Amino acid sequence: MIPAAFEYTKPSSLDEAVRALADGGEDAKALAGGHSLLPLMKLRLATPTLLVDIGELPGLRGVQRENGDVRIGALTRHVDLQSSPELGIWSLAASQIADQQVRNRGTVGGSLAHGDPASDPPTVFRTVGGSATLHGPSGQRSVDAAELFEDYLTTRVAQDEILTEIRVPALDGYGYAYEKFTRRAEDWAMVGVCVVLRTDGDTVADVRVGLANMGSTPLRATAVEDALRGQSTGAIASAAEHAADGTSPPADLNASADFKAHLARVLTRRALTRAAGLGG
Ligand code: FAD
Repeated sequence: MIPAAFEYTKPSSLDEAVRALADGGEDAKALAGGHSLLPLMKLRLATPTLLVDIGELPGLRGVQRENGDVRIGALTRHVDLQSSPELGIWSLAASQIADQQVRNRGTVGGSLAHGDPASDPPTVFRTVGGSATLHGPSGQRSVDAAELFEDYLTTRVAQDEILTEIRVPALDGYGYAYEKFTRRAEDWAMVGVCVVLRTDGDTVADVRVGLANMGSTPLRATAVEDALRGQSTGAIASAAEHAADGTSPPADLNASADFKAHLARVLTRRALTRAAGLGG
């Protein structure tokens, strides 16, 4: 439970931080809330030689609305989202992350850069869409939410890049729901389902469904979306049956692949029903 020895630096600007990461080479790592990185270091599953503490860099914590979009700074903590109900699905999902201690320290940017498919913020980002801004030695670039997550714990954030913010659609007028099945209270999702949905009378005008822990990255349940878009809300139960289509979730200590597929279908029906305002 004691990490390997490492150097530590705490730059005071974004440029300095990027330079420290670039100079430190492949074994230098950014440290934000530390709630994913430090446990890995204690287990010696990660052995960075340099930690670049970005946790208090100025200007990266907070949420702003801008032309129908919402900008969420990378150092915004889960607790900030949890305590902002006007952020809809982001607030609801944040309130289901672990316990208050984790939510007080963990950051949105850290969760997205870490890219755990069982985590909640990556699933919300993959569901609602938008883009992430990355700063590196050669400047700034933008990566679409659909492209950010490459594989298990692997994202498009390069070793010498810092994710500074995400821009996501505000989704005014959308219903939303986040259904998460855990074996123990306050745990990662065995399976999680994120839904944002807009109805026009009884018709589902737009729907997006995301899945946590059903593959090596967060996924979109496009077969459900296609089966429901433009249909009556009465089609929710039959559409939800497609939740596991095209997925091959890995079995783990908690659940077989078949059980995860079953959970995905049940949780999707519940989430769609709730997001459509039909109870559930
Ligand atoms: P850190 O641990 O500091 O960093 C994680 C990784 O991202 C590192 O590789 C780091 O180099 C990199 N990184 C961090 N910030 C940036 C950045 N801005 N740009 C580039 N790279 C960056 N999460 C859930 O979603 N749901 C849960 O139920 C859940 N349960 C948890 C239970 C426990 C007991 C613990 C300890 C954690 C849990 N988490 C859960 C994870 C938690 O949400 C973490 O806070 C989050 O995943 C990582 O954020 P962080 O700021 O702590 O990142």
